[in-house]
Amino acid sequence: MNECITALEYEGGITAIDSGMVRPQMAACYLLETGSAVAVIETGNAASAERILKVAASRGRDPEEISHVIVTHVHLDHAGGAGTLMQRLPQATLVVHPRGARHLIDPSKLEASARAVYGDEKFDEMYGTLLPVPEDRVRIMEDGDSLRVGGRTLEFMDAPGHARHHFTIWDEETRGWFTGDTFGLSYRELDTGNGAFLFPTTTPIQFDPPALIDSVDRMMERDPERMYLTHFGRVQDLDRLAGDMRAGVDEYVELAKRFEGAHDRTRLIEETMMAQLMQRARDHGVTLDDEKLRETFAGDVVLNTQGIEFWLVQGRR
Ligand SMILES: [Zn+2]
Repeated sequence: MNECITALEYEGGITAIDSGMVRPQMAACYLLETGSAVAVIETGNAASAERILKVAASRGRDPEEISHVIVTHVHLDHAGGAGTLMQRLPQATLVVHPRGARHLIDPSKLEASARAVYGDEKFDEMYGTLLPVPEDRVRIMEDGDSLRVGGRTLEFMDAPGHARHHFTIWDEETRGWFTGDTFGLSYRELDTGNGAFLFPTTTPIQFDPPALIDSVDRMMERDPERMYLTHFGRVQDLDRLAGDMRAGVDEYVELAKRFEGAHDRTRLIEETMMAQLMQRARDHGVTLDDEKLRETFAGDVVLNTQGIEFWLVQGRR
């Protein structure tokens, strides 16, 4: 109960809260505080709701002050706790992409597809029960729409490529994007003197390489100064990282094509991806031992490989 919850405070009233999923600092939920209102961006899973409320309380915020819960897309490490969190926040509106809304109002399809990706045992352990969100508490944001949170205006951009139900959120005040999974993954334990280490995420089933690169380019056109990643926290040095994103997507497309006809395609893609990530991390100056480094990448290598294979078999037709 007295567990210490990691919360990284940034300028502009933005705090990244460790959602408590899988391992420390794997997935974040954000608090965005303005004078008179608070938004939560990303919900983590059902158990994350308690953590979000605790960190909000430690900052002197009541549940009644939280006006919006925003999810970048409906993958469950981002939106799995939406129903639970909304039950705890009497004043909040849930804000979601037009393609995601119906899945939060009735999460049964979402649950079935996540069980297919993760398997029942892992699903139950990670997500438990998905609670529905009442339809009249859901608000859709189309591309270009904006939203007032207290004195602050957030702008929404349709951002396909990782998922078709994905938007990213522009915060003019800090000149930053809340990127969900559209600007890849960057774990803080891989930071070195060379800065952040970043690679794409291609979780099944809607990986679309040209769309993903286009979404990155459209975010960069705004000349952002920072990106708030769900996995994990704020990154800067964005020209370099956008280059890493584009190169990473190209590398995955190449991997897929190289092993397309192989009978043990999954194993080959996974092994090659792991070797490439390990090598890149070493080149970046990461000094974690091999075992720890493999552990850090293992879950993403499995998911990314699934996503790439799905694209190869289905999406590319
Ligand atoms: Zn995702």
